[in-house]
Amino acid sequence: MVWQQIARRGVQSPVVLRAMMRVPRHLFVPPEFRSQAYADNPLPIGSGQTISQPYIVAWMTELLELRQYDRVLEIGVGSGYQTAILAQVAGQVIGLERIPVLADQARARLASLGLGSIEVIVADGSEGYLEKAPYNGILAAAATPHIPRPLLEQLAEGGRLVLPVGDLFEQTLERVTRRGDSFHIERLGGVRFVPLIGTHGFMG
Ligand code: SAH
Repeated sequence: MVWQQIARRGVQSPVVLRAMMRVPRHLFVPPEFRSQAYADNPLPIGSGQTISQPYIVAWMTELLELRQYDRVLEIGVGSGYQTAILAQVAGQVIGLERIPVLADQARARLASLGLGSIEVIVADGSEGYLEKAPYNGILAAAATPHIPRPLLEQLAEGGRLVLPVGDLFEQTLERVTRRGDSFHIERLGGVRFVPLIGTHGFMG
């Protein structure tokens, strides 16, 4: 999976590739999909949600350009797979998930695997999480119609926010880098995510 789907498509960061090799994706998908766990696509995880495609997880993680002691906010924990990858490349991960049953399952799974310093919290991630701000990196694994203002405000100096922005059917992956009070936006390509449902996302 790591060579065929991820390195060959251009993900180069050794720490990200190593993280993708270390975290067992089959433990993050429901038993009936385990045989497809290393295939090149998203899979259902219950509650109408999906575990992201491995390549997208690796690409978004690389785009954050994280360092060993960085603090990261992840929005849309879902299965916890992306959370586990982030915890391999950064110092501390705060993961937000709006569906309590998914948060509970992810928390238990991540604790049993002992994959790093991770906190999973049930909250509307479109508001960010002020209690632990600022963040060196923020990653949203669900689509927003526009960039939520609280996420910009909770970025540390030089920090990066990576998220899909668009309508319910297609989005552009965007990366925002903070320099003082200005925000540099890069638009990186077409993606497709489930909606971010919340006050600064799509309304449920
Ligand atoms: N990275 C996850 C992706 C899960 S899909 C994985 O690979 O497993 C996106 C997740 O975002 C879903 O679990 C959904 O419930 C969650 N979500 C949607 N809106 C949210 C919000 N406002 N706050 C937190 N989580 C949200």
